[in-house]
Amino acid sequence: MGQNLAQKIISQHLVAGKMVPGEEVAIRIDQTLTQDATGTMAYLQLEAMGIPRVRTKLSVSYVDHNTLQTGFENADDHLFLQSIAAKYGIIFSRPGNGICHQVHLERFAVPGTTLLGADSHTPTAGGVGALAIGAGGLEVAVAMAGGPFYFNMPAVVRVNLHGRLSPWVSAKDIILEVLRRLTVKGGVGKIIEYGGDGVATLSVPERATITNMGAELGATTSIFPSDEVTRAFLAAQGRAAGWVELLPDPDATYEQVIDIDLGSLEPLVARPHMPDNVATVREAGPIKVNQVAIGSCTNSSYTDLMRVAAILKGRRVHPDVSLVIAPGSRQVFRMLAANGALADLITAGARILECACGPCIGMGQAPPSGGVSVRTFNRNFQGRSGTADALVYLASPEVAAATAINGYLSDPRELDDPINITLPASFPVDDGMFIFPPEDGSRVEIRRGPNIKPLPLPQPPDPVIAAPVILKTGDNITTDHISPAGAKYLPLRSNIPALAEHAFEGVDPTFARRAREAGQGIIVGGQNYGQGSSREHAALCPMYLGIKAVIAKSFARIHRSNLVNFGILPLTFTDPADYDRIAAGDNLNIDLHAGLGQDEIAVTNVTRGFTFKVRHGLSPRQQAVILAGGLLNYTRQQATK
Ligand code: SF4
Repeated sequence: MGQNLAQKIISQHLVAGKMVPGEEVAIRIDQTLTQDATGTMAYLQLEAMGIPRVRTKLSVSYVDHNTLQTGFENADDHLFLQSIAAKYGIIFSRPGNGICHQVHLERFAVPGTTLLGADSHTPTAGGVGALAIGAGGLEVAVAMAGGPFYFNMPAVVRVNLHGRLSPWVSAKDIILEVLRRLTVKGGVGKIIEYGGDGVATLSVPERATITNMGAELGATTSIFPSDEVTRAFLAAQGRAAGWVELLPDPDATYEQVIDIDLGSLEPLVARPHMPDNVATVREAGPIKVNQVAIGSCTNSSYTDLMRVAAILKGRRVHPDVSLVIAPGSRQVFRMLAANGALADLITAGARILECACGPCIGMGQAPPSGGVSVRTFNRNFQGRSGTADALVYLASPEVAAATAINGYLSDPRELDDPINITLPASFPVDDGMFIFPPEDGSRVEIRRGPNIKPLPLPQPPDPVIAAPVILKTGDNITTDHISPAGAKYLPLRSNIPALAEHAFEGVDPTFARRAREAGQGIIVGGQNYGQGSSREHAALCPMYLGIKAVIAKSFARIHRSNLVNFGILPLTFTDPADYDRIAAGDNLNIDLHAGLGQDEIAVTNVTRGFTFKVRHGLSPRQQAVILAGGLLNYTRQQATK
């Protein structure tokens, strides 16, 4: 039987397991990437594994999240990352070189390879036909040490793109349409594979916008074929030798097929506070806007920013709007500077930020209180902007630019004649902001400032977990809720004792204190618990505070893996109605050893005197990881066998 794209790459990298949806498989990883917010922890974990050098074909450590240096912490972390990269054979991308996914797409992503990244938007590289998956830092550390990556074989969904986009409608509108149809839960346990005649009309950066925001569907990854468009992009980056054609077999099968007529799409917007709360710009209406932010790994490519520059040229940003623009990479920034587009942006009144995540991760440019911000980013969770009561709308660069001029949410089709911006035949390649590692890193001294604290490790669990429910949450708890992002918290990312004090701060400010006082505890959650980023701090901090299990109606994939990797049991209600029978403060007994070998585990609510069932869904390997007290302990045990 023919294979689809995902099956082709997985079968070529398969180390263990059968490619049956839902079954655990293990694949060999060719490339890894980390960013600074997840990287410090990933490299501490790599160091703890005791190998002399990474065993991947290519590993890159980017600094893009936390580039503000208002204290010594970030600067110290950057030095740590730089020195440990040199020691272990990792390419270091200096602050200012750009956002990890944009830069990786430009310089390193290769069709047909596997990429594991300690960042949930790693699927951006699916734009060139790489199988690119976001994971926790510990899983990335294991891959760097030469270990396989384990995940449940996803079902593959085909999205057929037909025809061509109308003027002023862009790739962002395609992925917003997919989000509108499938919702933020619709991609869980799935790979989204794009095909159809419309694919050929989309450039690689446009494809990457779509695969990037597939993360918001909860999908394992998203992927485009590698075709002549891919070949031209790689050639323009001086990387023609890396191109291979990668197409699904004509008789490939899919779990589901979705058809989108590109010509019928119109400019869309995701309204507060979820990326799937999608409406047309016209339906959303002319909402007064305080801030427009353009950039992020979703929408800061050369063509994105050239379109913005063309719209702004000869115009002025509305006096009530603050327009901030962060180019996605130094390559893009240089091109805008060289061709005059940067001058057009500045003349119009844009505030130019450095090439980094910036406002997307809440590092500066928080909107005013109660303000409205239109952003070209991928997430609009409440509070992520840095302003708790801000209303964030997600839109294309074209919508954002039109909005910046008018001062209200605007359909760019009202502007004037369409603009035609295409990719150049060659990009100015300058890898001068990468630091390539020496052949022999054995003499490199790792720089460890006072902000780098020792790695906390979980303990193996008791046979029966007896603990109170410290917190009961609703649906769609994000990793931002669990371990907040933003300028106040990111400097603490390599200091778990300090960061843990802020766990669930916006949900229940007493959580950390109560968990610490209880010694051990349980969290009860609703649907889609842990959605959002790959941030393993969202598992590490609760683990540090003594959380032993999370019982939820359902979990987001990466967070569930992170919980297992840090020795926290992720359990789902067999009967979701049992959620309503538990309150915060109830004492629960989880009979782990009796239940782990079965599908279901019995949980007794000691306070209310009833027993209910939960499913663990753990593979035999994951069960061993839990019993070992986490993946790092397990990996060490395996190494000494
Ligand atoms: Fe950076 Fe935002 Fe992309 Fe995350 S989603 S990598 S914070 S730009």
